[in-house]
Amino acid sequence: MSDTSATSVEINDALFCQAHLKEVCSDCSFDGREENDGFFGFDPIDREGIEAPLSSPNKDGVYQCKKHSSTTCSQCYGWKKQITRYRTAAKKAGKKAGSGTNLY
Ligand SMILES: [Zn+2]
Ligand SMILES: [Zn+2]
Repeated sequence: MSDTSATSVEINDALFCQAHLKEVCSDCSFDGREENDGFFGFDPIDREGIEAPLSSPNKDGVYQCKKHSSTTCSQCYGWKKQITRYRTAAKKAGKKAGSGTNLY
């Protein structure tokens, strides 16, 4: 992994690009999947990136969701659930496409 500390923010223990609050962002050339998967106890795989809902830093610089003003909101920041869903989708897609010949 390249150095993610400069352009990333941590929201409820998951990493996102600071500008767009995306886990995978081509604009920022940021990819926090490996770190986030590792943090939540998963093996990193090629899956879709999660995205944070509308959030802004509070007085202490900790991001909180706009909807509930919570820094650990289980509804907006339920990363493990989202990551699990994307991992399942990625695995399913991988199985269907198979490895090796992946030309469309
Ligand atoms: Zn970005
Ligand atoms: Zn919330």
